[in-house]
Amino acid sequence: MSFTYFGIIAQTCSSTLTIRFKQMPHHKYVGQYDANELPVMLPIYYTRHFPQNIFCRWLACGSSPQPLSNRELSFTLADDVYLRYLSISNQKEFLTLLQKKCPFKLDVGAVYNTKPSMGRHDGVVLARELVFDIDLTDYDEVRTCCQEAKVCEKCWKFMIIACNIIDKALKEDFGFQNILWVFSGRRGIHCWVSDYEARTLDTPGRGALADYLCLITGGENQYKKVHLGSDNLHSSIRRALQIIDKYFEQVLQDQEFFASTEGLKAFLKLIPDEALKAQTAKRLEKMPASSLERWQEFRSIYDNYCRENAGITRRLKYLIEEIKIQYCYPRLDVNVTKGFNHLLKSPFSIHPKTGKVSVVFKPKEAERMKLNEIPTIDSLLDDNSPESELHRKNMTKSVKNFQEVVFSLEKAEALRRRNDANVSLEF
Ligand SMILES: [Zn+2]
Repeated sequence: MSFTYFGIIAQTCSSTLTIRFKQMPHHKYVGQYDANELPVMLPIYYTRHFPQNIFCRWLACGSSPQPLSNRELSFTLADDVYLRYLSISNQKEFLTLLQKKCPFKLDVGAVYNTKPSMGRHDGVVLARELVFDIDLTDYDEVRTCCQEAKVCEKCWKFMIIACNIIDKALKEDFGFQNILWVFSGRRGIHCWVSDYEARTLDTPGRGALADYLCLITGGENQYKKVHLGSDNLHSSIRRALQIIDKYFEQVLQDQEFFASTEGLKAFLKLIPDEALKAQTAKRLEKMPASSLERWQEFRSIYDNYCRENAGITRRLKYLIEEIKIQYCYPRLDVNVTKGFNHLLKSPFSIHPKTGKVSVVFKPKEAERMKLNEIPTIDSLLDDNSPESELHRKNMTKSVKNFQEVVFSLEKAEALRRRNDANVSLEF
């Protein structure tokens, strides 16, 4: 296990939380989040800032037609004790439970046929939002600015691209409407799809959907991870490429993928044609290290090569697109999407290591979202904090975003129930 003294723990395991607490100094710097103060701050946060009412309404709609009390919640407590199979019947019970347990982290699970209980785990999962988990650590082989738990504005662009691509695909290719986007609290984003069809989708259906959205395949030893074939590109891929194109040159400049010797070597391995690869290597090695210039040069080498070798370039047809996708397309943790009862961090939970709130955001706002403007528990509670005003404003905006999704979900649920009632009357 490795960690930096005051920074972010690089690897997570069950004991890291306790280890970090022992190493934290016992005085607070101005504007510095101190995890030691969580036991004092959390009860105030849950009472004053956590949107309990909207949260329960969101859970209840996602639980329909089963009651809210059949939904599993799980808490991680201060000493890393993990409580699963908790449940609530209403907002009052939720507040009581929060005050009694003061969880450091809140997770949301599936809806069972019976009330989940710690004593017995034989419930059958009946519904569960379709979820996506995108984490920057899965971009470590492409991002050059940060690694592991670190994140900055440069690599955050990968999340903006991912969120826009997935959101559009879910709406336009699958017709889903009630989609919630949530900052994970540190280095990633979560997506919750609450439409009835998504919630009741079975495991093979979830698997097929995850595979449809997954274009990057293969483990560490496979260099080229994207293969688009040579037929016409699917509209979903074309749309994804349009989104990538909006950011590609900026990302190239930020990340300098091909500037280092290793970066260039990794890039050359993506070219499946030996002659084209040799030509590219010769030309790119001689020119300035700028990735943008190297990319533009490669495109002209590629165009010429395709013109001169019309007969053999079928398998190179989408090489440019394949490279863009390999560097920028969303890298999904497909097991989270495929699983029916995978627990996922709740919206508005606090990340115990950063103090950041898991805010709800709109995909079109993701571009303007600055990491240091995301509310932290200490600045929400401390009027003297320099970020206090901005963080509170952003918290209010985030709750409003959450409300919008919940209102739309409630409307859709009411309509669905009315239609169901009409259908049963007709029989
Ligand atoms: Zn970074």
